[in-house]
Amino acid sequence: MSVPYLPLEAWNKRWALDGAQVRCKLCGHVQDLTQAGAFCHALSCKARTLEAQYPSHELAALLQQKIQLGLF
Ligand SMILES: [Zn+2]
Repeated sequence: MSVPYLPLEAWNKRWALDGAQVRCKLCGHVQDLTQAGAFCHALSCKARTLEAQYPSHELAALLQQKIQLGLF
């Protein structure tokens, strides 16, 4: 049962929770967790991808997965 922990570690490598905001560890841009739109990186950020990123959705999905697996 160690596999389910890895996605959260991967998330933590790219993002940081700062109160009610999620922050990109590379460019430092923040987005409110309740903001529905895609994350907006700095123009020069290496974490930028062509596809839209939703770190708060990802985090919610990861936590839900853990709850379903009985880890919380
Ligand atoms: Zn960034």
